[in-house]
Amino acid sequence: MGPSGDDTIYLDHAATTPLDPEVLAAMVPYLTRSFGNPSSIYRLGQEARAAVDDARSTVARVLGCSPAEIVFTSGATESDNLAVKGIAWRRRLERERGRNAAMPHVVTSAIEHHAVLHAVTSLEHQGFPVTYVRPDPEGIVSPEQIEAVIRPETCLVSVMYANNESGAIQPVAEIGRIARERGIPFHVDAVQGAGLLPLGVDDLGCDLLALSAHKFYGPKGVGLLYVRRGTPIRWQQDGGGQEGGRRGGTENVVGIVGLAAALAKAEAQRPGYVDHCAALRDRLEAGIKATIPDAVINGPSDPARRLPNNLNVALPGIQGETVLLNLDMQGVAASAGSACTTGNSEPSHVLLAMGLGEERCRESLRFTVGRSTTADQIDETIEILAETVARVRGLAGVA
Ligand SMILES: *Cc1c(COP(=O)(O)O)cnc(C)c1O
Repeated sequence: MGPSGDDTIYLDHAATTPLDPEVLAAMVPYLTRSFGNPSSIYRLGQEARAAVDDARSTVARVLGCSPAEIVFTSGATESDNLAVKGIAWRRRLERERGRNAAMPHVVTSAIEHHAVLHAVTSLEHQGFPVTYVRPDPEGIVSPEQIEAVIRPETCLVSVMYANNESGAIQPVAEIGRIARERGIPFHVDAVQGAGLLPLGVDDLGCDLLALSAHKFYGPKGVGLLYVRRGTPIRWQQDGGGQEGGRRGGTENVVGIVGLAAALAKAEAQRPGYVDHCAALRDRLEAGIKATIPDAVINGPSDPARRLPNNLNVALPGIQGETVLLNLDMQGVAASAGSACTTGNSEPSHVLLAMGLGEERCRESLRFTVGRSTTADQIDETIEILAETVARVRGLAGVA
């Protein structure tokens, strides 16, 4: 049985993951008896406060930072917006005070999640110059190219840890060194790395880092932003002074508890999870190559540079969406491009930026395996996919 309680073969873990039952169990008391407001001084409030404090310490241990450097948010979209706009607006304020002459410049990559990309575009509309660095054809952003576009007035570099579509793992530590040498804050959207890649912020060399609980078997609607002590940032949400005055609003206690429990478990299980995912992903890749010989893998050819759970593949001559609908009818959930763009058939901005043609983008499918995925499910998927492709190609031949 799949995580959804039916027999769905769920191969879309980059879009979201099911809530871990142990995480749910840790959350339940804060949905029921421990309902206090962490800002209240009586026992019920202090119980909630202690839960939030514990969660912050747990998260800080995983990231190798101080608890005071963690800000809980409503998810990675908020964290990315806070990082990108918070840094840029703070720098603009300093410029208005005459400390900086030129309008602050932002460097990012063309393959960022829309949470970063659209935040940066909004800055561009406000007059901030922006450079979008394109990846190589395998989807990897070059540190040399980042270095080449940095200007004296660059106020932020933002490059994701691993791409949610191609699975390409980015050389963030090298980019971090380049930014650090120049005193430029470096933001990393690390959402897809949780549970699969190390998250130590000092090794990554970042000043800001975003995570979202629902991508690592936690609840939806809660995330965090790590902000290195001393990073100049303009906080955005004014209110009751929660999160040390950095993000007003009564804490999402139950979500924060769930995020911390999920992150601690994902980190503890990481080596085994990586092996589990890589074996299933490789099985799927081999099966597709054997049954659909003209299938083309998108993203890094070196599997070590791809997330262990990711397979992005183009099936020449067939629309990805047609295949997806057929897979769905047979109980297999996968994705064409990112979930955020499904429903509009614009080709993926990530695959386009890698230099793939529009046609190849529309032929592309993304499979992302996870905890509940089994070898039997992979074999069944390979079979269903091969049948679907044969049927669709047969119909195309008749027509
Ligand atoms: C899912 C995702 C986000 C957005 O996270 P939400 O918590 O759903 O807002 C941001 N960046 C990446 C890379 C993602 O995969």
